Formats: sequence, C-alpha cells, structure tokens
Amino acid sequence: MKKKQFKAESKRLLDLMINSIYTNKEIFLRELISNASDAIDKLYYKSLTDRKVKLEKEDFYIKIDLDKDKNTLTIRDNGIGMNEEELEENLGTIAQSGTLLFKEENKNKETECIGQFGVGFYSAFMVSDEIEVKSKKFGEDKAYIWKSSGVDGYTIDECKKDEYGTEITLHLKDDTDDDKYSKYSDEFTIEGLVKKYSDYIKYPIKMDLTHEHQDKDGKSEKHTEEQVLNSMIPLWKKNKNEVSEDDYNAFYMDKFYDYEKPLSIIHSSVEGKISYNALMYIPSKAPFDFYNKDYEKGLELYSNGVLIMEKCGDLLPDYFSFVKGLVDTPDVSLNISREILQQDTQVKNIAKSIETKIKKELESMLSERREDYEKFFKVFGINLKFGIYNGFGQNKDVLKDLLMFYSSKDKKLTTLKEYVERMKEGQDKIYYACGETIDKIDLLPQTEKLKEKNYEILYFTEYVDEFAIQMLMDYDGKKFVNISSENLDLDSKEEKEELEKANKECKDMFDLMKGEIDVKSVRFTKKLKNHPVCLTTEGNVSVEMEKVINAMPTNETVKAEKVLEINEDHPIVNKLKKLYETDKEELKKYTKVLYAGARLIEGLPVDNPTEITNLICDIITE
Ligand code: ADP
Repeated sequence: MKKKQFKAESKRLLDLMINSIYTNKEIFLRELISNASDAIDKLYYKSLTDRKVKLEKEDFYIKIDLDKDKNTLTIRDNGIGMNEEELEENLGTIAQSGTLLFKEENKNKETECIGQFGVGFYSAFMVSDEIEVKSKKFGEDKAYIWKSSGVDGYTIDECKKDEYGTEITLHLKDDTDDDKYSKYSDEFTIEGLVKKYSDYIKYPIKMDLTHEHQDKDGKSEKHTEEQVLNSMIPLWKKNKNEVSEDDYNAFYMDKFYDYEKPLSIIHSSVEGKISYNALMYIPSKAPFDFYNKDYEKGLELYSNGVLIMEKCGDLLPDYFSFVKGLVDTPDVSLNISREILQQDTQVKNIAKSIETKIKKELESMLSERREDYEKFFKVFGINLKFGIYNGFGQNKDVLKDLLMFYSSKDKKLTTLKEYVERMKEGQDKIYYACGETIDKIDLLPQTEKLKEKNYEILYFTEYVDEFAIQMLMDYDGKKFVNISSENLDLDSKEEKEELEKANKECKDMFDLMKGEIDVKSVRFTKKLKNHPVCLTTEGNVSVEMEKVINAMPTNETVKAEKVLEINEDHPIVNKLKKLYETDKEELKKYTKVLYAGARLIEGLPVDNPTEITNLICDIITE
C-alpha cells in the first residue's frame, strides 16, 4: 500500500519523540499498557451492556512478549481493536485532548514534560525505530497492519490475525553510549516497569518469565512460566497506608495531564447508606481552559471498577469545579444514562458527601498548611466567590469560611473569621474598599481616617468581590460596609452634630455646586484627613458595581448615587466660601475641577477631559 503522510501536528510530535533527549523514555510502556487497558474497557463495557456480546471479565488480558534476538517488544491485548479507518484516524493524527494540551501549553518546554503527559502511542518512537500495529476490530472479519519507521509516513495493509484485539511490536533502537534500548527486551526490566507504572491496571498483564534453578547435581536449569505482573487493584481501592504520596501524585499527573503535583489528595472510602471510594485531587494550578465557558467540570464515575462516565458533572458543585478525580460506587448501575443520573438519589447523596469531604480538606489545608491554601486561593478563590454570588447566598454556609481577602493591617490575605477576631472593641462592622489594585486602594482618600483610627480594611480587587459580599450580607452578625458609602458612620455624636450644622450653613453654596455636576448632593465630611474631596455613594450600588455592570455585554446599566464630599478641615473650604461670596462663576469652575478629581481617584472616567484641562489652566494662570 502507498505510503501515507502524518498530519502536521502528529509529525511534529513524532519528530519530538524520535529525537527525544528525554531521560525517562521508559514511560512508553505505561502509555501502551494504558491504551490496551482502555481498549479492553471498551469491549468489557460492551459485554456488560449488550446482551449479544458474551464475554467474561476473566477472559481479558494484556500480554507482553520479549525477543532478545530480534530486539523486539510486543504488547498484545484482546480489547476492542481497530479497523482500517480507526488505524488511520487514531495513529495518523493526533486528535486526543491530552496530547493537544501538551502542545498548547508547552511549546517551549517540550522535552522536559513528555513524561508527565498522556503523550500516548507516539512515545513508543522514543525507543523504537520501527513499529507495527496489527489489529482486528471485535465483530469484524478483516485485520490490518499499520507500519511506520517514523516521520516519513506509514502504511496500512490487510493482514492475517485470528483473535480480535491489537498487537503492537516495537523494533527497539540500537544501543548507544547513552541509551541502552536493548534493556526493553529484558524480562527483569519490563517486570519492574510494569510494577512501577501499571500495577493498578485492572486486567492481568502477563509475561513469560524465565527462572533458573540449580538441580540436585548443581547444574542450572531454566524453565519458563507465564506470570501476571500487576496486582490489579486500582489505586483507589487500596488502603491508604499501602499507597505512597508518589503513587498518588504519579497517578494524578498521568491521568489528568498535569505536570505539577496536586496541592491536596483526598482519598476516602465510605460505607453505609451510600458506598463509594473516591480519589480526588486539588490541582495546584488551573487547567488551561478552566476559566473558559466550555470548561466541563466533573469526576470520573466508575461502577465497581468499570468506567461508566468520564465527566460526571452532577458529582461536583460548580464552586468546587476545579476538583479532579474519580468516584467508584456499586450504587449506580452500568447502564445509567446522563438524564437518569441527574435524578438519581444515590448520586445526589454521593455528591453531597463528596462536597463535605472537599470542604473539610480545604478547611484543614487552611488551618494546617496556610501557604498551600493561599496558593490555592490565588488560583481558585474567585471560583468560590462566584459560588456565593451565583447561588444568591444559598451556599454561603459552605463557602464563607473559605474566603480570603487582602488585609490593610496584615498586608496579606486574611479570612473573615480572622478579621472578626481582631476587630477593635466597639467595632461592629467589617470595612472594605474596592479598587483595581491593592496600591490604588491604599491611596484612596477614604482609607486614611480609618487607618488612623486603627481599623482594618479588606481590599477588594476582583470585581466579583463586592457582589459576593452583598450576598453574604454579614459575617457573624457583622455587616459589611464599603468605606466609600454614606453609612460608614465613624463619627461621634458631637461630630455628627457639628457636621450637620456646617452643612446647613453652606446649603446654598452646595446647591449651586450641585447644579454644575452630576451628583445627588454635595456636603462636608469628617472622614478625610489630608485629602480635599472624595466620592461617596448612597444606596445599594457602589461605584465599583457601576463600573462592572456597565462593562458587561448586556443592556443593563446602573448608576451609583454619588455624593461629592468635601473635607471640612481642608483649606479649600475657605476658598470655596470666599468664592461663593465674591465670584460664583469661578466657584463653578472649581466645583467641576474638584469633581473631576474625585472621579479620577475612584477610577471613573471624566466626561469632558478637554473642558477640565482648560479649567485647570484658567485657574492656575489667574
Ligand atoms: P490516547 O490513548 O491518549 O487517546 P494515543 O495516541 O495513545 O492517545 O492513542 C490514540 C488512539 O488510538 C486511542 O484513543 C485509541 O482510540 C487508539 N488505540 C491506541 N492503542 C489502542 C489499542 N491497543 N487498542 C485499540 N485502540 C487503540
């Protein structure tokens, strides 16, 4: 048959594999075995769900054959097999997500990461210079052989093969000074590699092992026996104390295509009204598509060790959508459909129990591994905040103690509980300020007085923050108050009275000023220390919320009710009063400039920058 070319991306990956300087080439075996196991899974599943297919679990196996003389390694399975189109499709192109991910994320660090990814079938080219794949699809008559010696292409021809399934033969590369490829036709090496990487594979991985005996005359005698190399117990069914952290991590990185270790491992086994084994992980970084719309949350769902769904979304609440892992339960049937699954009370109960486990794990990370938790929160915290917001506060009891915000006092992340514990005597509110960055918030005039009075302020830099907090309403009975809002209420009774008097005296002046700018009112304040003016809002919509909602691609627009507040102790006050008496036109100019300044401080645009610039120029040239 005519030689065919690989698709472009496949060629690139292939090239990478062939010329790989990666030291951990041995992982090719794990990849081939896991492909074989997947192929068996597919057929086994068919046998359980299709009455016409009569196969027993005991019939399935993977067999490795080594030939030292020919320098080959063959791995055979009696799984579903591939027909001509599938050989073409699967081994001529890369369509697989794990492999694609590898390409997208790691353009520059290709070789270092090979081992951590599901690079799949092509990894066999790291150790071989020719590969043959014979395959016969279950239920079909014809068998085909796919052959390739690398980048220049592959052929597919019909061939003879009695049993369904796939048989892959690697012609190992010749040894070099650095790499002894011949070891891969060595029983001892292969036995070790299977134990190391593929012990949990559910089907027997068999190999002929040769043993040497001394007979009674002292002569050595060889005999060969087929043996099963793996223990076949899935990792999640093992006892916790039998599994090392390395085992857990390797399993995670292999299965979920991550090259960083997870931050947390949750392995639990529940028996009772509901029964399940779960193995879950909290990743240390967000998957590349995590904040995309198409990101699909979910855990793998197994029924007694058989995979029935790759992403069961119903097992995870949205706010924990970052969790990766699997659940194995005898409580759901193999034939369950997605629709029925959603209604299934057992699944709901499992989901509830899993949610509790994840929450507990996060809490214990927070209390015992603070640094890890902060790392977690920087990556996934926004997801928790959205959880509160989207649930209209329904999930607040699950999530409120997992939240963190930047503290003006600690200069680092703090929890609400910690904030409340540190509150000053007599303080009954939780103060927060919003802005684009910590530095910008730090410079807000409104923060000055609070800091002087030694109040702690939480800095909200993410736009969801204030929305989420509004859903919470309060924490431990303490209301949240935006320091830019009218109800800051820091002044004493005398101060309030004094302020009211001052405001009354200047009422006419303020009315005139108000006429020049787009605010609900103009008034004095005592909350500023050195700064002349600030913007305050009345009502439920803050300046930050106005910005966010108006930036959203909906028709909805909102307007914060703004108040221009003037520092009563600032020298500008005398100037304004004087102008009110002597030059009202000049006062109008000053008003516009002060208002523009207050808007800029809040990060709001100035409507007519040219006019403002001209006014400033007028004032300073006078
Ligand atoms: P992955 O296994 O990550 O999807 P691979 O490159 O390893 O990617 O394999 C590509 C595809 O080839 C698999 O998804 C599967 O459909 C098919 N395949 C590989 N090995 C076998 C096998 N032993 N039996 C049947 N199909 C296989």
